[in-house]
Amino acid sequence: MRRIDLKKASVARPNTIRDINRQIVLNYVRERGPISRAEIAQETALQRSTVSLIVDELKGGGLIEEVSGESRGGRPPILLSLRTADPVAIGVDLGTITTIVATSDLAGRVLEQEEFPTDHDARRTAARVVECAREFVRRGGGTIEGVGVSLPGLVDQETGTATFIPHFKWRDWDVAGELGGALGLAVHVDNDANAAALAELWFGRPEIREVRDFIIVLVEEGVGTGIVFDGQVYRGRSGAAGEFGHMTIGQGAPVTCAAGSRGCWEAFSSQRAALARYEQSRRGGGGAAERVDFKQLVDLALEGEEEARAALRETAHYLGVGIANLTQGLAPEAVIVGGPIVRAWPLIVGDIKAAVGEGICRGLPPAQIIASTLGEQPTLMGALSLVLTTKFTRVSLA
Ligand SMILES: [Zn+2]
Repeated sequence: MRRIDLKKASVARPNTIRDINRQIVLNYVRERGPISRAEIAQETALQRSTVSLIVDELKGGGLIEEVSGESRGGRPPILLSLRTADPVAIGVDLGTITTIVATSDLAGRVLEQEEFPTDHDARRTAARVVECAREFVRRGGGTIEGVGVSLPGLVDQETGTATFIPHFKWRDWDVAGELGGALGLAVHVDNDANAAALAELWFGRPEIREVRDFIIVLVEEGVGTGIVFDGQVYRGRSGAAGEFGHMTIGQGAPVTCAAGSRGCWEAFSSQRAALARYEQSRRGGGGAAERVDFKQLVDLALEGEEEARAALRETAHYLGVGIANLTQGLAPEAVIVGGPIVRAWPLIVGDIKAAVGEGICRGLPPAQIIASTLGEQPTLMGALSLVLTTKFTRVSLA
C-alpha cells in the first residue's frame, strides 16, 4: 500500500470519480481500440449509459472518434478509436550531436520531423528549436497542445530546468520557461533516459505494458538508464536517479566517461567505447585508420566485417556486466536496451545475455532482456510521451 503524500494529496470532489472513469474509458480506447461502447461497458462493469455519456464527452473534447467496424451481415458496428487526424504534440529530442523536432498524433505516430546539428550554444539551439516548432504550430492549425523536451543530462522535471548537461557544460537552463515563453505552449522537460522509459511504458511492446518494474538502458554517446517501479518512472531527488552509467565496473576502459573516469560503465559500453575498440583493432591490424561513425560501424558489422563485429560484441559483453549488476540490485522483470545499437541486436544479444548469466549469482531471479521497439530514436518518442501521457493520465475536459 502506498503511503499518502499529504503535500500532493487532493481530496475526492464529486467530480473525482467521473474523472477516473473518463480516464479508464479513454485508456480502454487507447489500448484496445477500435472497441465498441458495449465492450467497454462489459469489460469495465460501468453502466452502458455512463459509458455513452463519457464517450460523448471524450468525442466532444477531440480525444476519440467513431469509426466503422467490419460488418457481419447487417449494418457495420460503430467502434471507437483515438482521434489521430491532427498533430497534438511536439517532441524535441535534444541530443549531443543532433536535435530532432517532430510532431505526433495522440497515438504517438510521428507526422513530421526536422533535424539539425545541436549547437554548443544553448541560446542558438533554443532559437532553432523555437523556429521549427513555430512552423509546426502554424501548419497544425491550433491543434498542438504541448511540447516535450528530452535532454542528455540532469533535469529537474518539476521546474523544467536543465540543471547540468555534461556534454555541453550547460547549467541551470530554464528550458520550460524559455521555450514556453516563446511558443505560448506548455513545455514538459525530462532527462532522455527517463523520457524513453516513459515512452516504453506507454508506447512500447504490448508485453511491456503488463510489466510494472523494468529498466531501460539507453546506449548512445554515454549510457543512461531509466527506471520504472510499479508502473511509474522513478526520478529520485532532483530527477538525478538512474545515473548507473557512472557505476564502476572495472578499470582501463577504452574511453573516459563524461566526467573523465575510465572505470565507469559508460566508458566500457557506450557507442564511443565501441568506436574506440574498432579503431584500435584497425590500427593494430595495420588497416587504414579511417574514422567511422557509429552508424557506419553497425553497417560494417552487419555486412560481416570481423573487426566491426568484435568491437560491438565486446561492447555488448560490458553492457551485460552492468545489466547483471542492475538486475541484482533492483530485480526488474525486464531490461530493455535502446538506442542505435539495437540495429545490431542479432549480433550482440548472445554476448549481453552470456555476460548477464555469468554476472548474476546463482539463485537470484533473472530478468528478460529485450530490445526496444521504439526505433533508433527512443528519446524522440520519450519527448513526445511527456506531452501525450498527460492526455491519458489527467483527463479533465472542464
Ligand atoms: Zn563516470
